[in-house]
Order: sequence, then C-alpha cells, then structure tokens
Amino acid sequence: ETIGSHLKHMVEKFPDQEALVSVHQNYRATYLDFYQQTGTLAKALLANGVFNGDRVGIWAPNCYEWTLLQYATARIGVILVNLNPAYRAHEVSFAMNQSEIKLVVSALSFKTSDYKNMLTLVREDCPSLQEVVYLNEDWDEFLATAVEISDEALRNAEKAVQFDDPVNIQYTSGTTGFPKGVTLSHHNILNNGYFIGERLHYTEKDRVCIPVPFYHCFGMVIGNIACTTHGSCMVIPNDAFDAAKSLEAVQNEKCTSLYGVPTMFISELGLPNFKEYDLSTLRTGVMAGSLCPPEIMKRVQSEMNMKEVSICYGMTETSPVSTQTKIGVPFEKQVSTVGTVQDHLEIKIIDPETGGIVPRGSSGELCTRGYSVMLKYWNDPEKTSQSLDEGRWMHTGDLASMDEDGYITITGRIKDLIIRGGENISPKWIEDFLYTHPKIVDVQVIGVPSEKYGEEVMAWVKLHEGIEANAEELQLFCNQKIAHYCVPKYWKFVDSFPMTISGKIRKVEMREISVKELG
Ligand code: ATP
Ligand code: MG
Repeated sequence: ETIGSHLKHMVEKFPDQEALVSVHQNYRATYLDFYQQTGTLAKALLANGVFNGDRVGIWAPNCYEWTLLQYATARIGVILVNLNPAYRAHEVSFAMNQSEIKLVVSALSFKTSDYKNMLTLVREDCPSLQEVVYLNEDWDEFLATAVEISDEALRNAEKAVQFDDPVNIQYTSGTTGFPKGVTLSHHNILNNGYFIGERLHYTEKDRVCIPVPFYHCFGMVIGNIACTTHGSCMVIPNDAFDAAKSLEAVQNEKCTSLYGVPTMFISELGLPNFKEYDLSTLRTGVMAGSLCPPEIMKRVQSEMNMKEVSICYGMTETSPVSTQTKIGVPFEKQVSTVGTVQDHLEIKIIDPETGGIVPRGSSGELCTRGYSVMLKYWNDPEKTSQSLDEGRWMHTGDLASMDEDGYITITGRIKDLIIRGGENISPKWIEDFLYTHPKIVDVQVIGVPSEKYGEEVMAWVKLHEGIEANAEELQLFCNQKIAHYCVPKYWKFVDSFPMTISGKIRKVEMREISVKELG
C-alpha cells in the first residue's frame, strides 16, 4: 500500500471522525474533510507543474497546512522535503539545492526568522526552485488553481504511485554534524507509523497531542502516520513547543495521548500551575528522541496519568522507530529500557571493531535491519555506504545492550563516550545517577579535553527553581557513591542547554562552550 491508498481506506471507514485539529489556528477537519482538502492541494500542485518524483519543500512551524501538504504530496508521488524551522539562509539554501526543490511552501516568518526575506536572498542560488508559496499570503490563490485539474487526472496521478517510491527527504537533526538527507519510502514510514500505533493500542477513539515538530519524523510519523493509520485524531497544540499550551490542549481537546522529548515533559511537570490541569483523559504517550531518564518516566507515569506511556528509540534513517515498549510490560522495564524490537524488524548489537555480536548484557553498537531502513541518503552514495552495509544493516552509532528478555537499553552515542585515562565512561550512567539528587532538575554530562587524562568529566546542571547548590556539595554527593573517575571534575550551573529544534541536546556545542570557558 501507499500512504494515499491507505488514507482512502481510513476515510471510507471513519468519514465523520475528527482527523486534524490545530488549536492555535482554530482549525478542525474530519477524515472526509481531510481527504477533500488534501485532494484539492494535490490538484493545485499538479496545476503548478509538480509531478511524480519532484521535490517540494516545506519550511514552516507546526500548522495544519503542514499536515495537509504531507498527505497531498504523498497522494501524487511527490517527495516532500522537510526544512527545519530553525534553519537560516545558508542551511535552507544548502538543503534546497541538495534535494533540488522545485517548489517550496513557506511561512512568512517564525519567531526571529524572516523566512520571506531569507528566501528572497537565496533564491538566485537555487536554480531548481521555480515557485515559492507563502502561507497566509498566497495560499488561497494557490489552492484556487486546483480547478484546472480534473478528478480523473488526480486519480491517474494517484494510481502511478508505488509503495517503494520515495515519499520524503528528512534532514537529520544535526546533533553530531551537518544534516544528512534521509530518503524514506511509503513502505518505510507507513509501516513504521502503523506498528507504532499498534503498540500504543490506538483506535478511532484516540486523540493525540503532538507538540513535537512535524519537520522531524517524531511529529510526522510517530505522530501523523500513527494516527491516520488508526483513525485517530492529530491535535496540534501550537506552532512550537509551549508547555502550558500543550497541557491546555490535552485538557480542552480531551487528548488520550501526549508526545514529547524528555525536556518537554520536564518543563510540563515544572509548570507552577501544573496541578491545575485536568489530565484525566490521558492514557498513553510517547517519550523519545534522546535518553529518557527513569526519574522523569516515573513522574510522567504517576503525575500525568499516563499509565501506558511508551518509550520509542530510533533515528531518522529508520523511519524512525526501531524499538518501543509495549503497554503492560513490568514497571521497571517500562521506565528504564527502550522496550523491545519493533514488530517485523531485526536488531543486533555488535562490537564495532570486530563486527561480531556481543553477549547479552554487554554494550555495543546497535544495528537494525528491515522495512524501516531508509532507501538512502539523498545524492550521497558515500555517506550511505558508510552507515548501510552490504547486508542492509543500518549502523546507528548508538551504544546499547540487550537483556535476556530482549529489552534494549541505550547507553549513549559512540561519539559521546568519554574516555578518561583509558577508562570508557558513559555520560548517561552519571546523568542517571545525578537525576536522583533532590536539587537537580536536569543534567547533561560531557567530556572536555585534559592534558593529563585525555578527557575529564564535566556536568552541566539545572537546579530546581529558587534552589541553590555549589560544586563541592554535588561532588560530595558523588564521592561515596560512584567510581572516582566518574565524578565530574567540572560543574556548570545553567538554566537551559543548547538544543536542536527537535529537542536534542547539542553536546557538540556544550563541549565548544566549555572548552572556551575552561580556557
Ligand atoms: P545527526 O545524525 O544529524 O547527528 P541525530 O542523530 O540527533 O542528528 P535524529 O535522527 O533526529 O538525528 O536522532 C536520532 C538519534 O537520537 C539516535 O541515533 C539516538 O542517539 C537518539 N535517540 C532517539 N531516541 C532515543 C531514546 N529513546 N533513547 C536514547 N537516545 C535516543
Ligand atoms: Mg544521527
């Protein structure tokens, strides 16, 4: 099946169910509305000379038009290129050129970014770009061109789409380096979204609050595709993450599921009026994107009424989800592992040096294979062959271990490992320990260069509001409890961490800042 043919089935099954709600735009659509509106938009694309295999970009924060475009392009075999809302002129022109975008749909501006101004500036550097459509400015006029295309022409365009055609180019978060253009097919993301929704027991009764960005697969697959393959409703609380607006949306839209990266849940739990929100309709949700501290999982479970909260682990290259906790697993597994391998996929954990599989319980590089693995990095055979081997195994660069029952624990990224005096230190292990300190609300551990040991451990700490602490007392707290070489030598107190817009902590940037500060 393709995304379009699957959507058609769901529309036939649940025409009057609500499909999409955008709270900040006051927009609502049933499955039938959604199908008609994506059809109109698909016709408008065809009328503007965008056909099967062409690339269309979207540069906008979360809005209902984003989702409409996701499905409209999929229906006619056009490849959607997600442009990160945080990009500036240089990055956006890189991505548009790299994927040779023909048409881009863009917001006029967002936060401090004047998209229109930037696109005007870079336009002549992007020879492939033929048309820019601005939301709120020429959107209606663009949609009006749909009349030029007959229903039959739309149907023919839909019929030509194959399940293994590319549907999406998503640039990775850029946590570890320059973003790569992950090329995903209908088969990749339709299946992944479906099986994610299965593990969450989604039905047409579910209403899913999606505050994570659509430009990233967390929003557009774990969010949108998981919903539309189950007749569930996608609820967009705001254009960008806002803790209060997310909880308001859960309350007012009676959401049954809430998504977030760990820091989002931390801010929601930390709202001064947190207790006043009625979260009684919540049942489940997804925490993913980076290491999920067990302490936070426990609080989400008990204080947010999300008894069936699930952790997903994955990466853009794998659609994204490779492992996920199932509902009803033992509490300890639910809060401290990333679950078991997703249905119909394979996982192995190898010694990166020898390639051999490590014994259960030992840490190594996680590799995965199956329907979820991307087609390729767009126009980059070299990078593709660096991470996808001849056996189609995707080498994730993440460190993990698998227990006797098949539960996976992510222990960090190969690139984040701290090596101090020949000792391999997992930042995650120290972070999890520090989370148990009553004054600490968030903590990130990195390695900084040291002449003596190669690297030294440094902790960036965010304290609870209005609370004070000093390095000595935190060091003392560590001294008796963790190995001496794991005790951070340097401490930095911060209010926030450098982050990608998909919510990942940029340890690369933390290291740069720390190196400068430490001299
Ligand atoms: P880049 O590849 O450009 O450096 P990135 O890897 O952060 O960026 P994504 O594809 O958005 O880009 O993120 C995937 C990564 O996020 C995984 O490889 C893993 O390191 C991390 N991750 C995702 N989910 C989890 C999780 N549940 N626990 C721990 N880490 C996770
Ligand atoms: Mg990556």
